[in-house]
Amino acid sequence: MPAHKFVKLNTGAEMPALGLGTWRSQPGAVEKAVAHALKHGYRHIDTATAYAGNEKEVGEGIKQSEVPRGEIFLTTKLNNPDMRNAAAALDASLKALGTPYLDLWLMHWPCPMTKEGGPDKKCDWRDTWRDMEKVFKEHPEKVKAIGVSNFSVSYLRELLKFATVVPAVNQIESHPLCLQEDIVEECRKHGIVVTAYSPLGSDQAPLLEKPVVKKLAEKYKVAPSNILISLQVNRPGVTVIPKSVTPHRIEENAKIVDLTEEDIKELCELEKEDHIRFCKPYWTGWGNIGFPDLE
Ligand code: NDP
Repeated sequence: MPAHKFVKLNTGAEMPALGLGTWRSQPGAVEKAVAHALKHGYRHIDTATAYAGNEKEVGEGIKQSEVPRGEIFLTTKLNNPDMRNAAAALDASLKALGTPYLDLWLMHWPCPMTKEGGPDKKCDWRDTWRDMEKVFKEHPEKVKAIGVSNFSVSYLRELLKFATVVPAVNQIESHPLCLQEDIVEECRKHGIVVTAYSPLGSDQAPLLEKPVVKKLAEKYKVAPSNILISLQVNRPGVTVIPKSVTPHRIEENAKIVDLTEEDIKELCELEKEDHIRFCKPYWTGWGNIGFPDLE
């Protein structure tokens, strides 16, 4: 059963520190994974409109689990091609998920996109944030918190210059080869919770093979995945969303161990040898105020 650790958002809501990621799965797999996770104690599910058809499956999985909606922390994300139509996109997400409300709604990337997949130069992500704020203020029955994802320090600073709602969360890639401690620090300064994505190194979980991860797994008599997931839960103000559609891994990943400062230091030193960003879609080249500093 997952450790029931929660992190408080700036809205006052409690976000479970461990959630289930749902990106990149075969059709049908996510529904079963969500139901399995919820039946085994998970109470936080992360999805996105961009995860081809996933929202509907996540909604089905929630229903199948029979866990009351009120006990679940549910996040979805506004898709890049929907950034001119945030309010309508939210309604579509709610319908697909079969839920009246989201616990958290994130701007997936500050990268407005045309339906064809190119940059939408007529849409400014700042206006999209303003639209998200408006929905949040006018429809608290639909959205309990709003936030961002893939925001670098410079993007966050730009946002905070004009925002009337401080994002509750910034969801970013974070693992020992790409900790992004500068962003985590900036978020802490402003009371923004960080959610670490791709904590195992994304597809096929390459970080499980790192010798220091295996060594610490032996020390604590847990699986290597538990070390990488626990690293994030042990960082103040950080939550984590490992993805798996494999029942025994979903259960296994929920074991959280208390790492020592020395263990954490050893894991963090991996980044000095090798810095890898696993999630780098083509649109990260479009930014005009700091995507280079996403490196
Ligand atoms: P993860 O780092 O969570 O790794 C997922 C991979 O690890 C899958 O191949 C999974 O396989 C495998 N795996 C999981 N548990 C174990 C285990 N115990 N032993 C061995 N292998 C394991 O990668 P993701 O990139 O999926 O990140 C997690 C989530 O973060 C996403 O699913 C998504 O919800 C979110 N995300 C958000 C992004 C954003 O832009 N905001 C970008 C990327 C991710 P299998 O499923 O076959 O078990």
